[in-house]
Amino acid sequence: MTAFADLGLSEPTLQALQDVGYEQPSPIQEQAIPILLQGEDIIGQAQTGSGKTAAFGLPIVEHVDPTDGEVQALVLTPTRELCIQVTQALRTYGARKGVDVVAVFGGAPIRSQQAQLRAGGHVVVGTVGRVLDLLSRASLHLSDCRFVVLDEADEMLDLGFLEDVEKILKLCPNGRQTALFSATMPPPIRELADRYLYHPQTVKVKSANLTVDTVEQFRLEVKTPDKPEALVDVLREERPDQAIVFTRTKIRADQLYKKLRDKGMNVKALHGDMSQGQRDGVMLSFKGGRVPILVATDVAARGLDISTVTHVVNFDVPTSPDVYVHRIGRTGRVGRSGRAITFVEPKQQKELQAIEKHIGMELKPWSPGAHTAAAPVVEKPRRHTKPQLSRNGSEEYRRVLASGGAADGLEVADVIHAITSAAGLDGEAVRDVRVLQKFTLFSVPDAEAEAIVAAVDGASVAGHRIRAELARS
Ligand code: AMP
Repeated sequence: MTAFADLGLSEPTLQALQDVGYEQPSPIQEQAIPILLQGEDIIGQAQTGSGKTAAFGLPIVEHVDPTDGEVQALVLTPTRELCIQVTQALRTYGARKGVDVVAVFGGAPIRSQQAQLRAGGHVVVGTVGRVLDLLSRASLHLSDCRFVVLDEADEMLDLGFLEDVEKILKLCPNGRQTALFSATMPPPIRELADRYLYHPQTVKVKSANLTVDTVEQFRLEVKTPDKPEALVDVLREERPDQAIVFTRTKIRADQLYKKLRDKGMNVKALHGDMSQGQRDGVMLSFKGGRVPILVATDVAARGLDISTVTHVVNFDVPTSPDVYVHRIGRTGRVGRSGRAITFVEPKQQKELQAIEKHIGMELKPWSPGAHTAAAPVVEKPRRHTKPQLSRNGSEEYRRVLASGGAADGLEVADVIHAITSAAGLDGEAVRDVRVLQKFTLFSVPDAEAEAIVAAVDGASVAGHRIRAELARS
């Protein structure tokens, strides 16, 4: 068995891995890390859940010289969710070595990101559009950036970003090292690799996820009109700590969400018809453990890494076996076991067979009581201290002033995360976050403002202890 120490990683990085609790490299890490440490280009065919972030993130940490204030590595992501996720992972991996990672993404004020870049960052993780924007404003310089990662390149293609990706690559030094990660390899991605990578080595992990083996997989045969009731039964029976229910379309996600909500369940929806702000709010409350059930479409939930998910329910059979593997990879994350239940309509036997063939085993029939045999091994979600509030849009909000700002490395995403977890709030409760140089302002519901200030005062945001007080009107 290969150990991280065998891959050529330095002592501080090995310590950071110990801190985060990774014991052994995943297959993609085992293959990709030595190649990247030797300075070679790579094409990595791997999905979320394979451990791909560390596969490129650990070599980035090794590559960076923390005494050099220039941007030395760039990771491009298709979405801001992935951008935030990758940033948090890289900060963890680089913590012992003192590597600064700056996240730049659209939908947040560009000025605070410019300030962070001015303050210095060794690694920039950014969405394609925002990186281009910052380059055109001369707020970001890539002349010393000798390590570039394209993460989820096929997703960038789907979203129409490839041309912009090329523009960015052209601004990076010729002698750079480039890593391209993609779950699939459609021709335009191949062509991009041919043009911009230098003798790349290809590493592939089977569609297999790090953890699919640890997911118990069931099927439930059910007629179309009976599916919503069957779902209620499954959720009541399984009592998941956290479940994602996948539907094929946005409309179905919304209908199902309303149905469950009307049954009194604590549930949220996540789909592409929602605004970015709404989606962020839902993600934060789900990640924070305050909402146990999420009804989502594949696209909206793509790339999400939620390690506390105990159950995946395929309310609609996935469109392909790959999508199936991708969906159930959301549960059973490293070191935990999870359960996946797939609803199969009578006319969907073919789809079921294709999935079973792909994963090389049959799904077990689900029946009430079947779950008692192997209870999921999961951490309890964190705090549930506050009753869930309904944000009806007519609440009064109150401005709060906190010490600490861009100069201390604070970012909007960190601030929202810290406030919601310190005060046990859902993401929608925190609005209008403005990170200034030395201070941060945000608004919270007036009725709870004092309690929130008390909870947030003294909390740590991005390693910085903040003081909070109600702002004078
Ligand atoms: P990724 O595919 O990069 O999104 O990673 C999937 C999940 O696996 C994340 O929650 C990582 O923190 C976790 N992970 C990555 N590598 C390892 C490892 N070697 N051991 C344990 N967990 C890991």
